[in-house]
Amino acid sequence: MFDYLIVGAGFAGSVLAERLATYSNKKVLIIDKRPHIAGNAYDHYNEDGILVHKYGPHIFHTNSKEVFEYLGQFTEWRPYEHRVLASVDGQQVPMPINLDTINKLYGLSLTSFELDKWFESVAEKVPMVKTSEDVVVSKVGRELYEKFFKNYTRKQWGMDPSELDKSVTSRVPTRTNRDDRYFTDTYQAMPLHGFTKMFEKMLDHPNIKIMLNTDYHEIIDVIPFKEMIYTGPVDEYFDFKYGKLPYRSLEFKHETVNKEVFQPVAVVNYPNEQLYTRVTEFKYLTGQQHPKTSLVYEFPRAEGDPYYPVPKPENAELYNQYKKLADATPNVHFVGRLATYKYYNMDQVVAQALTLHKKLTEKEKIAVPV
Ligand code: FAD
Ligand code: UDP
Repeated sequence: MFDYLIVGAGFAGSVLAERLATYSNKKVLIIDKRPHIAGNAYDHYNEDGILVHKYGPHIFHTNSKEVFEYLGQFTEWRPYEHRVLASVDGQQVPMPINLDTINKLYGLSLTSFELDKWFESVAEKVPMVKTSEDVVVSKVGRELYEKFFKNYTRKQWGMDPSELDKSVTSRVPTRTNRDDRYFTDTYQAMPLHGFTKMFEKMLDHPNIKIMLNTDYHEIIDVIPFKEMIYTGPVDEYFDFKYGKLPYRSLEFKHETVNKEVFQPVAVVNYPNEQLYTRVTEFKYLTGQQHPKTSLVYEFPRAEGDPYYPVPKPENAELYNQYKKLADATPNVHFVGRLATYKYYNMDQVVAQALTLHKKLTEKEKIAVPV
């Protein structure tokens, strides 16, 4: 009899497996329908011996000391600050939009102070910022919105930014200084030997058994357990009772080229002129030295593995119906990006899983008074 069956060996499932096994001394079975652990953060050495991320670029960044130190038990870190260029009007310019982006794009030599005024002069007045279009046009005006955001977002999400919640484009700031880092979090680093190695260490405990290539439906009636942690899509768990929750998918085209460096930074975004959204060169993320270099192109898709919950009001309403069902399901705990239908980064999922572990520990203390 296992204390816990954990469905999904991504960040949500693996953090809970580790905490329950190590801290709470529980017997845990963690399963995944994929042939590997680490969920979407899975990385591996390809046929040329280059470390690549199978499901697109994963860059770790967080403001949470707790999350950073927690994961630091299972990996050494390699300091890494992420930089992105956007291919616009035949030039590659810094993204997020900053002072150099504007000066390069328009052949100007504005100062930060002047750029502030310039943004004010082009920004559109939006009485209430609600959508992903509002966020951008109210800060940098329609022309930059059209060059950098409109088509990228339409491609990535299959809908206009005006239909998407403001939280989507709010992920990307605008700057009047020359800071060209994609993120400004306190902790920015990559696991020195990769994500999968970090997960291996996390799950290496006598209380944890791992079963791969296994959908939970295949074993749920034959393997006894007391409680379940579920990290797959929440609508699927309830047999789509209220209808399908929309998820956006991607097709990843991996490629290795016979030269040492392909592009000037880790990621180049292509808002307008290509069918893909961005190209990532992995060696920037991993720090690996190799005479060849590996890339991934991301092609957004409506069908395929569910990668992105789609933040818009009617989807939030549909999710709330599923959440009510989830909350009323005894002994099953829903956690992670798919099971709580939240566009979470890795660190947010780790924090959510650590919080659930604390809740389970509290519950037990109340249930079994000493
Ligand atoms: P997942 O990693 O999706 O794990 C869920 C697991 O459950 C999967 O392995 C799945 O196979 C398994 N599963 C589902 N259903 C079943 C079933 N029926 N039976 C058995 N197993 C099942 N975050 C960042 O912080 N930085 C980034 O740079 C970043 N880049 C990203 C790039 C892309 C292209 C994508 C898609 C996401 C990115 N993220 C990034 C987000 C990050 O991937 C997630 O926050 C994180 O991986 C979520 O972990 P999870 O455990 O909730 O879900
Ligand atoms: N975005 C854009 N142009 C860009 C980069 C981002 O329009 O060059 C928008 C797009 O809608 C994207 C969102 O901002 O989905 C969030 O970008 P982020 O880089 O955080 O996306 P993720 O890495 O999560 O795919």
